[in-house]
Amino acid sequence: MEKIRMTTPLVEMDGDEMTRVIWQMIKDILLTPFIDLKTEYYDLGLVHRNETDDKVTFDSAEATKKYGVAVKCATITPNAARMPEYNLKEMWKSPNGTIRAILDGTVFRTPILVKGITPYIPTWKKPICIARHAYGDVYKNTEMVVESGSKAELCVTKADGTEERALIHDFKSDGIIQGIHNLDSSIGSFARACFNFALDQKQDIWFATKDTISKKYDHRFKDIFQEIYDNEYKEKFEAAGIEYFYTLIDDAVARVIRSEGGYIWACKNYDGDVMSDMIATAFGSLAMMTSVLVSPDGIYEYEAAHGTVQRHYYKHLKGEETSTNSVATIFAWSGALRKRGELDNIPELSAFADKLEKATIDTIEDGVMTGDLYLLSTLENKKKVNTREFLEEVGSRLKAML
Ligand code: NAP
Ligand code: MG
Repeated sequence: MEKIRMTTPLVEMDGDEMTRVIWQMIKDILLTPFIDLKTEYYDLGLVHRNETDDKVTFDSAEATKKYGVAVKCATITPNAARMPEYNLKEMWKSPNGTIRAILDGTVFRTPILVKGITPYIPTWKKPICIARHAYGDVYKNTEMVVESGSKAELCVTKADGTEERALIHDFKSDGIIQGIHNLDSSIGSFARACFNFALDQKQDIWFATKDTISKKYDHRFKDIFQEIYDNEYKEKFEAAGIEYFYTLIDDAVARVIRSEGGYIWACKNYDGDVMSDMIATAFGSLAMMTSVLVSPDGIYEYEAAHGTVQRHYYKHLKGEETSTNSVATIFAWSGALRKRGELDNIPELSAFADKLEKATIDTIEDGVMTGDLYLLSTLENKKKVNTREFLEEVGSRLKAML
């Protein structure tokens, strides 16, 4: 069989621990036998980030801007315990945070559904994709503890030196206050990333805030979304046969539970933090959650939602057998290859991505799965396999399909 050719390289961001082991196996077993794989390789493993003073992370984000599509392996975000483990010069920042800031992107997380792993909500038949705004609100707050007898005011000093003040509260007993902010530009980027992704996926998009209570703050989110939608996306949405739907956050939660899924749910920062864990858990497993960072100008970075699976890696280092789920990492590769195929007009490459995903799902639905899914699956003839065996099983199904 002739290998599928690529014209533009994918930006490949390698990572850490068990996912780094899986990364190489995916390339060896599922990709390079079938594709003339073209990548521009960046090693974001912690060892190399430390060697380059984290420059490699910045370089990989710039390359992503240049080429438009990246695929990323999970990486360690260093904490105190990692300092001696990797002999670090500094406690380097989260690569995901760095890349997200450079691309000004929004993260979309979508569960992968398979027969035998039943969502906790019986009406859910299709995935629900969560888009979380990743800037501001309570994540960039200023807080104070306030003593009885204090008066708290909101005060803004304008460029011309004049002040605008509003009373927060006259404290007759001890209490607390908090100041938060957001930026029109960030909300606008979030809105555009959401609308672009909805068009890309041909799915409806829901957005919700608490604008009835927060008449200026949350209302601003609602207005910016509506204005951008009306001016830039309404016609494209109508042509694509999809809908933008705004409602109150509490109404949205009730509707999500009653829905059958199959849409994108855009959330403010805090709502997205809370709801993405609820959605991931209710659909079954973090190891079955894909994640893609989309910039407002249409740059894509694909990855798995889970981390480096450290506990399994330490077993692997001791020579013990592991049964780590590679599905979300496989889907990161298939997502990136499909997008590259679309952008470069290589239908064989996009078709390969579809087959790779089908082979992966077929494997699990045939009852062959890693330990995490084995515990959840309701299939009767299920079999637990190790990390490599799972990929080989996917590989043999893929080969038969091609
Ligand atoms: P984790 O790697 O997501 O793993 C937490 C636990 O979830 C695992 O111990 C395992 O449970 C289960 N799990 C997660 N993914 C799995 C998979 N693919 N297959 C089977 N089981 C899976 O989170 P963590 O252990 O808290 O974090 C480890 C490192 O990852 C940290 O250094 C963190 O900074 C990093 N991290 C990176 C990213 C990213 O790059 N996007 C995201 C999150 C965390 P059992 O042990 O019970 O089997
Ligand atoms: Mg969270």
